[in-house]
Amino acid sequence: AQVLTQFDTIAAISTPIGEGGISIVRLSGEDAVAIANKLFKGADLTKVPTHTIHYGHIVDPKTQEVVDETMVSVLRAPKTFTREDMVEINCHGGMIVTNDILQLLLANGARMADPGEFTKRAFMNGRIDLTQAESVMDIVRAKTDKSRQVAMTQLAGGLLEKIKTMRQELLDTMAHEEVNIDYPEYDMDDLTSQEMKKKAQEVSKQIEQLLQTAQEGKIIRNGLATAIVGRPNVGKSSLLNYLTQDDKAIVTDIAGTTRDTLEEYVSVKGVPLKLIDTAGIHHTEDKVEKIGVERSKKAIKEADLVLLLLDASQDLTAEDKRLLDLTANKKRIIILNKQDLGTKISQEMIKNLTDNPIIVTSILKQKNMDALENAIEKLFFSGIENSQNQILVTNQRQAGLLAKAKQSLEDVISGINDAMPLDLVQIDLKNAWDTLGEITGESAPDELITQLFSQFCLGK
Ligand code: GDP
Ligand code: ZN
Repeated sequence: AQVLTQFDTIAAISTPIGEGGISIVRLSGEDAVAIANKLFKGADLTKVPTHTIHYGHIVDPKTQEVVDETMVSVLRAPKTFTREDMVEINCHGGMIVTNDILQLLLANGARMADPGEFTKRAFMNGRIDLTQAESVMDIVRAKTDKSRQVAMTQLAGGLLEKIKTMRQELLDTMAHEEVNIDYPEYDMDDLTSQEMKKKAQEVSKQIEQLLQTAQEGKIIRNGLATAIVGRPNVGKSSLLNYLTQDDKAIVTDIAGTTRDTLEEYVSVKGVPLKLIDTAGIHHTEDKVEKIGVERSKKAIKEADLVLLLLDASQDLTAEDKRLLDLTANKKRIIILNKQDLGTKISQEMIKNLTDNPIIVTSILKQKNMDALENAIEKLFFSGIENSQNQILVTNQRQAGLLAKAKQSLEDVISGINDAMPLDLVQIDLKNAWDTLGEITGESAPDELITQLFSQFCLGK
């Protein structure tokens, strides 16, 4: 059982630093309201009703100097994100002022929050489970609205409910089995071991279905890993430039999140693309050498989507054919570029080779680029049907534990097939149940929880 802990009061700036006009400083803990009240002039925050917002000024209690004009929300436990008393100070004086307010809170009894500590408290106080905490992280890092939507669904507890149900089924089976082990004289072994096997098979199948969503989950979370491939001069850099134009490039500028500088993200109609080896595209520029092929091979291997460029104004070369072969079993869009210069390669010719979407473009003249974007969108959604309402496994931790639980269930099945004693089989069943509990945090070790929350950014 979880021991209710009284936590000290923490504070952090919870909006991206240096962005927008308004920033929010959050407080959570027993003394949140009292500490904020020491600095606030406008209302007695200790007396106001919960979930109300108040206009006033933050004043340095030592110097009586007015620091900022603010709106302050008082949110009393338990209906708050952390299930503790919370105060949110909306300030608009810019970064320096926001930081001054934080410093005043720290000087008056609050402690600087660790990264992820607000979310950790929500978890510790039973407000959310680990899958939901991970969704908070996903929402913070979401690269497009589409990714954010999926994370929101998870936050609502989709995966949690599913895992709870599976655990309950296993628990029922274990309880049933316990009776059998304790009263062997009834000799129902054969009957119930078959029941147990059936249950293990059912749950194992459900886990398998969840695991199948892991690839989609990864794509939604991390973006569709996309390789731009083609022989020299077909227009790869031009396409890259088109895709990374200001309005398409995604800038993930949230303070404290780790930013992968090697990868470029773009949003095409809300579909997050993670462009692979853009450095390679730039570098191989003028070198006619073994162009890309060696280097492309690696990018192709990593890719969820290949954009293969051909120069439509010239005959198909051996190198084109090689790249067509190399990418044959990938999700792929074939782009017949430079159509403004003529048509030596027609759509029909390529149609004979593959049933991938074929788009005829002039990247230089920006002709038909919309068709290309539509094709990307369509491919993305054909792979990820209705994922908005679907339960998705969005990270490696969850997928790893699901695979482990499934293995335990397979051990249950083979144990029964080999007529192993039921109390031994029971151990595997219990393992599966425990492992599923680790996903939601019900049976997660402390180190894991600490490690997990430390990946969050400040103020969340
Ligand atoms: P890369 O070597 O594959 O990266 O090709 P680039 O993007 O560097 O393009 C090579 C040359 O082809 C550049 O001069 C581009 O301006 C030009 N180019 C790219 N796309 C088109 C196009 O659709 N039509 C024409 N006429 N030229 C293009
Ligand atoms: Zn280039």
